[in-house]
Amino acid sequence: MSVKDRIREKGLELGFEGVGFAGVEPMDSYIKEIESRPPEMYGWTNSDRFSTIRGASPQVKHPSARSLVVLISNYYRKSFPQMLEGVYGRAYLVDERKVLGEEMARIASFFVFLKQEGISPIYDGEIPARMAAARAGLITYGKNCFAYGREAAKNSSWIEIIPFIADVELEPDEPSVELNCPPKCKNKCMKACPTGAIYDDMKMNPLKCIAFNTYYGAETTPMELREPMGTWVYGCDACQEACPRNRPWMRQEKPPHEDLHSRMDEYDLQAILQMDQVFYEEKLWPRFFYISRKRIDRWHMNAARALGNLGNSDCIPALERSLRESPYENVRSMSAWALGRIGGAKAREILEKARGKESEPVIIEINQALHML
Ligand code: SF4
Ligand code: SF4
Repeated sequence: MSVKDRIREKGLELGFEGVGFAGVEPMDSYIKEIESRPPEMYGWTNSDRFSTIRGASPQVKHPSARSLVVLISNYYRKSFPQMLEGVYGRAYLVDERKVLGEEMARIASFFVFLKQEGISPIYDGEIPARMAAARAGLITYGKNCFAYGREAAKNSSWIEIIPFIADVELEPDEPSVELNCPPKCKNKCMKACPTGAIYDDMKMNPLKCIAFNTYYGAETTPMELREPMGTWVYGCDACQEACPRNRPWMRQEKPPHEDLHSRMDEYDLQAILQMDQVFYEEKLWPRFFYISRKRIDRWHMNAARALGNLGNSDCIPALERSLRESPYENVRSMSAWALGRIGGAKAREILEKARGKESEPVIIEINQALHML
């Protein structure tokens, strides 16, 4: 058995769904694409751009690099509570595997094996994972910019890609750097994207993407995105849910995600709107760490916007409290917007009462909310 075959066999034995090999030459087409994107359109700082481009030349960054070893893992093995769908992206709901260390343990075992084979692996988060996997023949692209397994997870996009650098030459696998969407699909992902973020084949504007706007984005979510963002508070799966390439895996019977079912109270939108720092750091942050520990306001703002879009008048007391008591201007602004969106006499009364005590930016939001009524 060759070294490659032994590595592949070990990866599969550890539960990874794919193991592939690629060279370390600069990923020219990827670099060209990044360089063509205006930083202001993509919300990048110069340092983001620099590190993205640097990661695409593994051997320049790591002179000992000779090959890439790429692993594929399927993160959607269990079914999620219905209540969380349309609210949290699936990839983040299952992050507990990482938090609990299971994924890290598998990767550590894989590293031990590579070392026994005389290979010193390096993990570098700057390596473009999707391009590495396409070069290793493990995925093809979708027009929605996601990577679809060629064998993993019934060819779906519910996969995580983990690339490593190896310091020995391993013959690259046949690459699959290609778009592989069936013509009869007729761009379902683009039509399903609520904000129009996907504007062409494999072209997505992150500043319009819901996922980006839930964890990064403007201090206060821009008005034109609030309604299309619906109830998503962390991530967005709409373009993957609409995709016919994902249907076989989505239809597959899966065991329930017991942990999530037992912790539903922690993911309730009203609970999030009212959570304090201790709850945030203990319950949410370990799983959803793209939002900093210091930015509880972003969670409060997202929850207020989602509750406004739910349009349920039972949420009015919670929104009234956040408009009256939140120390964060963006949260009070979004609470005012949500009350305007829910509407009704009670919402009007709360907004009018709050107007006299507010800062200028929040007064503007209140006036707009009153106008919506
Ligand atoms: S993740 Fe959501 S907002 Fe972003 S491109 Fe896909 S459907 Fe559009
Ligand atoms: S929805 Fe259609 S066009 Fe979009 S990624 Fe899936 S197959 Fe491709």
